Order: sequence, then structure tokens, then C-alpha cells
Amino acid sequence: MVARGAPLEPTELELPAPRENEILIAAEACGVCRTDLHVLDGELPDIHCPLTLGHEVVGTVVEAGPAVERFRAGDRVGVPWLAHTCGVCPYCRAGHENLCLAASFTGYTRDGGYAEQMLADARYCLPLPSGPAAELAPLLCAGLIGYRAYRAAGEATRLGLYGFGAAAHLLAQVARCEDRRVFAFTRPGDRSAQRFAIDLGAVWAGGSDERAPEPLDAAILFAPVGALIPQALAAVRPGGRVVCAGIHMSDVPSFPYRLLWGERQVSSVANLTRRDGAEFMELAGRLKLRAQVERFALADANRALERLRGGEVTGAAVLEMPGSPSVAGTEARP
Ligand SMILES: [Zn+2]
Ligand SMILES: [Zn+2]
Repeated sequence: MVARGAPLEPTELELPAPRENEILIAAEACGVCRTDLHVLDGELPDIHCPLTLGHEVVGTVVEAGPAVERFRAGDRVGVPWLAHTCGVCPYCRAGHENLCLAASFTGYTRDGGYAEQMLADARYCLPLPSGPAAELAPLLCAGLIGYRAYRAAGEATRLGLYGFGAAAHLLAQVARCEDRRVFAFTRPGDRSAQRFAIDLGAVWAGGSDERAPEPLDAAILFAPVGALIPQALAAVRPGGRVVCAGIHMSDVPSFPYRLLWGERQVSSVANLTRRDGAEFMELAGRLKLRAQVERFALADANRALERLRGGEVTGAAVLEMPGSPSVAGTEARP
């Protein structure tokens, strides 16, 4: 990323040898997340250019710094959004490192994984379940931070998911395993996303302008559309929760207090903790969670971003790096 709003450009960078707790990683695949668009569009504060986007990285350790104990060369690792925390602020000390006042973030305040190689702090990287890199990459944000939102939604049996993209299609699989009933809300008229949701076990799918057939216990908003907050509040029962999972949303329009009345709650989830990461990867391995992905070559990152922006991706968009096993396999075919 050379400038806000400008198309990404390929660049050659010389990476230094990994220091202390760092690992040098050969990336195999990197998920393309809605947050990447918010960074690219300058909707988040303190964006420094040039910057390499990407915070759902699956790769192999090439070299480990002298203090690294968890991983060694050849290990497969996942690099999530949370890149580093201070460890001493009140949030870090209280176990809420996701709110750290001095945190840094992969592909936002640090270079990320739209790259052939990257450096990361090994203490924030995650071991992964086995599987193809491209199908695991979306677990690292869509799955992981989506799951934080899912837990924040509480014991909801009837769960609304607004925006049926990368995160929702993974959570629908988790919800089905836990006997919850998913109600999927897509862009009005997006029949293919609605079919996709039903295929993944949703009991109902419709446009965000439609009413669910019954009151919901909770709703999670993945679409970055503030106007969905009053709509979701109108869809949940008294005592129900509306959880906003995105890092950025358009402004929330004013709405009558009666939508919030009845002890309904609106909250957001921010980032992840390393504990979230460990718990979710364990769950993903146990449930054999797999993302349904649309694959792009690294060189096609701009096209992947524009398809995501246009709501054209089914499941998750993932970049595959030159030299990663699946890409090499593709090239070897006659
Ligand atoms: Zn901190
Ligand atoms: Zn993300």
C-alpha cells in the first residue's frame, strides 16, 4: 500500500534477520479481510505508508530469533491481527490485552502478509490445525474475532448474523455444531448469499430489510453498516444482545429509545487476545472447520479487494503466494 485509496503495488523489501522473539515466515496464504479495505480507504487512524496489508497469514517458519522457544524452522504458524502488546498497561494486566493502549496490529501498524515473507513476534503467532493453507487463513481473523463476537452474544439459541461473508460462514458451522439456530441477513436481494447460508445450515435467510420469522436472542453485525444497529435491535427479544464485530462502521442513525428498552444491549468486540486465539484454533481443529474460499494469486490482491468491496465473494477471499505448495501444484498441471 503506497497511499490511502491507491491500488496496491508490488515492492521488493529487504527483511532483516529475525531479532530476539521474532520469526521470519514464508507466507503460503493470506486472507483478505474487510478491515484491509478500511485500512486501504484510510478509515482507521494512524495509517503509515508504505504498508503491507494482511493479517490472516498462514506460513512456515524460515528462521527463528534467538529467544524464540515455541516455534522452530519448518513449523507452520498463523499470524493474526494482534501483533504485539505492552504487557504492563491496566488492560494487559487485567487479561484484556485486546484493549492494550500500546498494541500493534499486523497489516495495519506493522507490515502484514500480502507478501512472500514477513517478520512476526512469535509470542503472538498461533499454532494451526492441519489443512490447506488457504482454507485455514480465514480462521485467523474472520473465524477468531468472529468467535469472540459469538461468545459475546451469550447463550443465544436463535442467533442472527448480519452480513454473510467470511466470518458468518465460519460461525454458522460452529453454531450448527452447538445446536443453535442461525438466521442469516444478507444484502437485500442477494439470493446467492442466502442460498449459501442455507447450505451451511442457517434455518432462515433473507435480506437485512426483512423481518426474521421469530424474535432473536442475539444478533451479530459483520456488515460495516451502522443503520443495521436499529434494525437488529428491532429483531431481538427483550434482554437480547446486538454485537458489532467490525472495526469500523458507517454512522449509526438515531433511533427511538423503545428499540433499546427492555434491557436490550448493544456492544462491540475489539481485536483478540492470545487466549482467544488458542481457544478458537483448538475448537477449529476439533470441529474440522474449513473456510470456503475464493483463491487469488498475490499479484491479484487488488482484484480480490475489489470483489470483497463489491460483496461478490462467496465465503472468504484468500491470496496464495507464489511458491506455496498449492500454487506450485497448480502451475505443475499441464
Ligand atoms: Zn498493554
Ligand atoms: Zn480481519
